[in-house]
Amino acid sequence: MAKAEAQEAAANEIISSDPATGREIGRVRITTPDEVREAVERSRQVFHMWKTTSFAERRRLVMRAREVILDEMEPIAELISAESGKPRGEAIALEIAPVLDLMQWIARSAEKMLRPRRIGIGLFGLLGRSSQVVYHPLGVVAIIPAWNYPFSIPLGEAVMSLMAGNTVVIKPSELTPLTGVKIGEIFERAGFPKDAVQIVSGAGETGAALVEAAPDKIAFTGSVATGRKIAEAAARNLTSVVLELGGKDPMIVLADADLEAAANAAVWGAFCNAGQNCASVERLYVHESVAEALTRRIVKKTKQLKLGPGTDPDVSVGPMSSERQIRIVERHVDDFREAGAVIPIGGSRVLPKTRRRGEEEKGSGGEFEHGSGAATQDDFSSPFLDVSSSLYFLPTVITGATNDMRPMREETFGPTLPICTFATEEEAIALANDTEFGLTASVWTRDIARGRRIAEQIEAGSVCINEHLYTHGIGQTPWGGFKNSGRGRTHGLEGLLELVQPQHIHTNRITLLPDAWWMPYSPTALETFRGFAAKFATGSLLKTATLLPQLWKRIKELSRR
Ligand code: NAD
Repeated sequence: MAKAEAQEAAANEIISSDPATGREIGRVRITTPDEVREAVERSRQVFHMWKTTSFAERRRLVMRAREVILDEMEPIAELISAESGKPRGEAIALEIAPVLDLMQWIARSAEKMLRPRRIGIGLFGLLGRSSQVVYHPLGVVAIIPAWNYPFSIPLGEAVMSLMAGNTVVIKPSELTPLTGVKIGEIFERAGFPKDAVQIVSGAGETGAALVEAAPDKIAFTGSVATGRKIAEAAARNLTSVVLELGGKDPMIVLADADLEAAANAAVWGAFCNAGQNCASVERLYVHESVAEALTRRIVKKTKQLKLGPGTDPDVSVGPMSSERQIRIVERHVDDFREAGAVIPIGGSRVLPKTRRRGEEEKGSGGEFEHGSGAATQDDFSSPFLDVSSSLYFLPTVITGATNDMRPMREETFGPTLPICTFATEEEAIALANDTEFGLTASVWTRDIARGRRIAEQIEAGSVCINEHLYTHGIGQTPWGGFKNSGRGRTHGLEGLLELVQPQHIHTNRITLLPDAWWMPYSPTALETFRGFAAKFATGSLLKTATLLPQLWKRIKELSRR
């Protein structure tokens, strides 16, 4: 059941519904394009005050916002889970905990990271010159996130923007509008100045209005197609953008890998958040000598996963977030089948086994069945009319996949784990790089030096050795993609520097002598310039020393005028 199709919405509102049940959980009024423009104007006014606040004051407020989140952790987790479908444990482990960590880190470190920095200027220093870079905030940062991490991604980007001295306007995804409103409330309760963080609500048109309103930076997270549209629209105002886009991330398992660890990581990396992660394992390449052993483990572990609503603490895989998304998964699984791949487990949409007809509800979760034994309408009573309106898709393992199959080339963004084999290291690297995407990747081996050598040959923004996916949760490390997976970085020093403009301040402490390159020019000037090119520009002190008589001649010439 498509979230927005569940109930009648007025033209000026979005309905948020629970993907586990299809039931409405709230409504949000859509912000009009005029109101979006006004929000950006208000943001710019507050910016002039906010940019003058001390790092200590910003730190105090961010740490206060952390306290607000900690106080409300359970209801926030419940809301994230209800709107996005992810298990409540994942809402805490993959959203709340990482963003709390990012908040404490950036609150404590931003001042040091943005401290004025002296630049070595080589031989110019000998002329009594020095250079420094100082960092200025940009102004209004527009944050346009996806729905899959509706809390941690926009909140983390907002906190980094605020610490850098910017103000923020967030346009949450239309699939998770209430989580967006909650983020606004957290900043308000923490005592941030009015309008320093504003939430505007709506779908693509509202996002487009925000881009049109000429903010000073756009931090976008979403699909490649929308990223392209935003980059085009932003170019009209020369607004710079950070684009965090899709992925088709490979996991390479070498013959000497710890197969138990690799199997656990593959299952988590492919199926957490129902596979709706930009950095999910979307392609697993395993050395042919261990392919069978790894696949056996993966299938066994997948069988143990419980599918159901996010409220059940035993549930590992919740429903997918939208009908649009589950249809892509169905299409990809059908494509795999048609292309001759094998599906040892999963492969279909199901109803969760929560309530058997005529029985009391068994907790709130329930085991699901696999493959042909998948649940049908006859087996279960559920909030959904029939299986075709359920948003639950079985975690699905696919073997015999090859790179020429269509779903190996497009982002699936769902609970599928296609497995391919390779014979040589070179082949594994070539297969991993054979994609338009380049967000993250992982290499699994006991030989760390070999893993490191392979990692550097993979075209991806983050490559882990014996890990997958989780480094978005380490705020200190840069996050972003190569190729069509994005432009720019969030998180880490690189992410912080996206949110400021560097200003170079250059000082000359020796003004008694004229600069040799000043006017008027003359034959002596020309000779000196030749010397600059041939000697000074080598960076060699020794060679430059031989230029001194010529330089002195030129300075004397200029001083006489
Ligand atoms: P999407 O592109 O459909 O939407 C993303 C956001 O853009 C939403 O808030 C949407 O309302 C807004 N939007 C849509 N059209 C717009 C327009 N013309 N102008 C301005 N805003 C507009 O993406 P989605 O379905 O929400 O998210 C899934 C995608 O996000 C996947 O491709 C996934 O890989 C990617 N993603 C990437 C990262 C990353 O860090 N690289 C993280 C999470 C998700």
